[in-house]
Amino acid sequence: MAANEDNLKKIISHAKEYGYVFQSSEIYDGLSAVYDYGQMGAELKKNIKDYWWKAMVNMNENIVGIDAAIFMHPTTWKASGHVDAFSDPLIDNKDSKKRYRADVLIEEHLEKIRLKTEKDVAKGIKRFGDDFDEEQFRATNPNVLRNQTKIDDINARFKLAMDNDDLAGVKTLIEDLGIACPISGSKNWTDVKQFNLMFSTEIGAVAEAANTIYLRPETAQGIFVNYLNVQKSGRMKIPFGIAQIGKAFRNEIVARQFIFRMREFEQMEMQFFVRPGEEMKWYEHWKEQRFNWHQSLGIDEKYYRFHDHVKLAHYANAACDIEFDFPMGFKELEGIHSRTDFDLKQHEEHSGKKLQYFDPEINESYVPYVVETSVGLDRTFLAILSAAYTEEKLENDTERTVLKLPAFLAPIKVAVMPLTRKDGLPEKAREILTILKYDYNCNYDEKDSPGKRYRRQDAIGTPFCIMVDHQTLEDNTVTIRDRDTMQQERVAIDKIEAILKDKLDLRKVLN
Ligand code: ATP
Repeated sequence: MAANEDNLKKIISHAKEYGYVFQSSEIYDGLSAVYDYGQMGAELKKNIKDYWWKAMVNMNENIVGIDAAIFMHPTTWKASGHVDAFSDPLIDNKDSKKRYRADVLIEEHLEKIRLKTEKDVAKGIKRFGDDFDEEQFRATNPNVLRNQTKIDDINARFKLAMDNDDLAGVKTLIEDLGIACPISGSKNWTDVKQFNLMFSTEIGAVAEAANTIYLRPETAQGIFVNYLNVQKSGRMKIPFGIAQIGKAFRNEIVARQFIFRMREFEQMEMQFFVRPGEEMKWYEHWKEQRFNWHQSLGIDEKYYRFHDHVKLAHYANAACDIEFDFPMGFKELEGIHSRTDFDLKQHEEHSGKKLQYFDPEINESYVPYVVETSVGLDRTFLAILSAAYTEEKLENDTERTVLKLPAFLAPIKVAVMPLTRKDGLPEKAREILTILKYDYNCNYDEKDSPGKRYRRQDAIGTPFCIMVDHQTLEDNTVTIRDRDTMQQERVAIDKIEAILKDKLDLRKVLN
């Protein structure tokens, strides 16, 4: 679905109506940037997690998964740099009293300039069709080149200011670019300040400063501190990876984009430990692997793009994002970072414990380098949901809203329905349900007309509906309806399992 705010609203309301996502504590008017997953959402989320785990852990001999605690020793966050540096530059608009991330304001300004170029390219394609040489146009057109110079200059100024902790310089940049508050339209900005995003609480009964601990802002550190435990107990040889799925918490400054930016969210991360000097090879490898994983969801390639980081985090020597064209435009979905030996070295220093690996192939001990892939589970959920949301005009002039979710991720795989509630049809339908429910999450649906039931399943995203009718009682056949084509096929009951197994076979998507 195209990027615009109305489409985001439609997705939010669809997600609520069909039990995907609810505002947290809604009866108390909600809690900002915190969301609950409903009966459908919890299933979809679980299926995404399983699919990621399968691709990363089960399909790779040299990757194992762990489940570390959310609470960690407070020194962890001192060592990782989060206590001192995990902050965002914030700026307030004095007229609207709205708070923004200064880096996001600049990024959005850059995106506007990029869009101008894309418009020019689109015009060229429209005008000249196949004769249009896009590559040459991008390399030579004066407007395109001017815009690119602007982008490069802004990036360079921003990087310089951030590298030098020059927050006044960031403010001047915002002023020079004439960036206005999207709500008030005013350019009346406060100074830029740094704001630490970690939530803290106290552990134990006595509230003293020494007892302060943090809710983890990323899952990665749980992997780093366990790196030797896993390496030794699993007899892992470099290169190897440790994967983890879990909650992370950030006190985000701007939290207005549904489940895209939440204060409590889930990450699916993998740290890949490599020999120093080989990190770039693995960085490229994981960039490609992760891009392929997203592509395996069957969402059109045009929704994805890479974005190289200009300002590298304090721990990285290379970093990029896989961005997705969300209803709010292109934004980060996954980060891929070459984190060097920064984290392990820091933990060595702060814990006094050696975190080295003896590499028998080269007869040397070293602190491994790390390449990380870190994808937001909730952002993946939103990407899948927004790409799946489709409003369709049908031949008989009616409309339907259908979630064209990848079948293997759909919350409910099969809805089993008796045509009517009498003549023994419900009993027969339940017999089929009993066969299928061991392998698939199924739904039994007998209320309302068949047409209404099909629409309801379309809206939920159920890929297959099995209808038990009077013919079933005579010859043991049913119809299977395909969500996307709406075609029905009559098949023997004893063939259903094989058909579903084939249609939902992960071998066709994961390799
Ligand atoms: P952003 O720039 O959007 O704040 P980030 O670069 O800080 O994101 P990382 O620290 O790289 O994000 O985290 C890895 C992934 O975790 C991100 O790609 C994103 O998918 C997810 N993520 C990060 N912050 C949030 C959040 N507040 N809500 C939901 N998902 C998040």
